[in-house]
Amino acid sequence: MYQIEWVGMLRNHFKPGTPDRIRMIVLHATAGTYPGDLKWLRQGGAPGREVSVHYYINKSGQIFQLVADRDIAWHAGISRWEVDGRTVIGCNEVSLGIELENRNDGRDPYPPEQYAAACWLTRELVQKYQIPPHQVVRHLDISPGRKTDPAGFPWQRFLAEVFADLPGQPALPPAEQLRQHMLDVAYRAAGSGLPANWPFFTVARTTHLGMPVTSLVARPPAPRPASAPDDRERVLSLPDGTRYLVEVYARDALFAAVGPDDTIRTDEPVRRLSDIPASPQRLTLLEAIFRAADPINGFQPGWAFHQYFLAHVGELGMPISHNHRLTLAPGWNVACQHFALDSLCSPVGQWQIIYRLSEIRRAAAGEILLAGISRDRAAQLAHLILDDLFTLRTGRRYQADAALVRYALDEELGAPLGQAETALIAGVPMALMPFALDVVACRLPTPDWPLDQPLPPGHPFGRLTTLLGPRRQFTSGIVRLSRLGHQFGSLPVIRNQPVLGPPRQHRPLIDVSLFAGDGELRRRAIDTILVVPAPGPASLSLCNAHIEAHWHYYIDHTGTIFRLRNERYVARAARGIGLPAEQLDQRALVIAVEGSLDNTPPVLRQAVRTLVRWLQRHFQIGHDRVRSGSLTGDS
Ligand SMILES: [Zn+2]
Repeated sequence: MYQIEWVGMLRNHFKPGTPDRIRMIVLHATAGTYPGDLKWLRQGGAPGREVSVHYYINKSGQIFQLVADRDIAWHAGISRWEVDGRTVIGCNEVSLGIELENRNDGRDPYPPEQYAAACWLTRELVQKYQIPPHQVVRHLDISPGRKTDPAGFPWQRFLAEVFADLPGQPALPPAEQLRQHMLDVAYRAAGSGLPANWPFFTVARTTHLGMPVTSLVARPPAPRPASAPDDRERVLSLPDGTRYLVEVYARDALFAAVGPDDTIRTDEPVRRLSDIPASPQRLTLLEAIFRAADPINGFQPGWAFHQYFLAHVGELGMPISHNHRLTLAPGWNVACQHFALDSLCSPVGQWQIIYRLSEIRRAAAGEILLAGISRDRAAQLAHLILDDLFTLRTGRRYQADAALVRYALDEELGAPLGQAETALIAGVPMALMPFALDVVACRLPTPDWPLDQPLPPGHPFGRLTTLLGPRRQFTSGIVRLSRLGHQFGSLPVIRNQPVLGPPRQHRPLIDVSLFAGDGELRRRAIDTILVVPAPGPASLSLCNAHIEAHWHYYIDHTGTIFRLRNERYVARAARGIGLPAEQLDQRALVIAVEGSLDNTPPVLRQAVRTLVRWLQRHFQIGHDRVRSGSLTGDS
């Protein structure tokens, strides 16, 4: 049971209506943080971009009401949906809007308190106004391409819970439920969600491009601490003036022309990156695709990795990580960039040598010889790269004998793309995990079964592509979940193995200092740590940090730590902090923190503490020399 707190609007940014107009519910994410985003909504947005919404739910699960249900709020904008058998253009007239506090970057979590409040409120409204499941939607469903909110929200699970046991709800066959959950997991791992009738999905599926890797943002949105998102930045303008939406899949990127309102034009085909000849257009697309994976470096035509990529794109797939540095042993550093189907690495300083993860694994198995690398070293290197990949993408360590890990590697499903999730399908708990070429599901004994604990024998896998096969096959064999075991009889069965490796202890450290180039060498010893706020979002800050040499470290809101510059160089942000005589730029290590310093999520605070402690120990810096705060230098 929840309280709904009426706060109302500060301006009359809504239209009077009647309760019988309410035929659908639209969920949004604010792309901001509480309380700034609520304040912004109550004020009705900005001049020229008037907005309003009926409900707002913050991350603690508090529900606020801004506009009465009967009145028409302005939350959906240009939108279209089938409502009670007719096409509605402009869904505000017939809908209620619910905003969720979330950064809408696909990585910001929706905490259990907020999720539960959203379930409760939606269920109440569904019952009160008799809304059918088809008419509970996300903004991204009714404005596909133009909007991505609420990015990362567990949609299929949410719908199942909202409509659980309501009278008159036809239950989908279990295999269809499983299929929908798997697709939901895959598209959320790529940073948004799968809109209904999404043309990219159709093309990707029929041409076997694998799973989505990124729903591309053409350029990082400028800092708007409290505003609702304007997803128009998703549209990429090519040098010839044409405008496209781009979605990156494991094997290739797809793009489609958009009309004046940024929705996909249906009169033009969806095209593939690999079909375009070398041209300024292709370079712009490549730059945007690499920039999405690596905001610091983007696409560098002169780099050995990226030239290798162009020559082997079919085998590597699309980029999914920064180009960063890994340390195998003291003095044994490699540069590494992960792609959807393979990873590249190169010993630092020897750019002419490029190894692929798949080759290193074969060398470790004794199948091939790699020049300059022993079998033992190959095994160590493969483990290092895989552990880095799993840690970055899944929140878990790489464990070679874990069932899902071994299965995915043996079946060559490519990189893991996101965390494993548990879903209840017709009452049966399953773990679902997205890989580059497929989503894999595995039955669990109980919904809360720890994934790093050995399973009892007899737990088969299912693969999304099998479920997406020809309709005939689909309806004949996999109608009942209880028969999944027979359907996938030829696939391996887990015997006393864990599903995945153990959860990682810390958020990863991504070392990109190698690519920052040289800088101004410091002339004094390090004796101070400065922690400063950076407005964010991370993609924008990282993009600029590289050029401006502002900071040594950057920590984003998920707690991921980036090492941007070698400590022996000066970070410019320290200039002008403190008294001139202190010369802090010559003495300080600078850590930038995404957002403000007083309203940081716990995971980010924890990461700051861990890094500061580590740097204190490493550089022998006392507590009194750790300073945080604004650029005026007060601690
Ligand atoms: Zn929205």
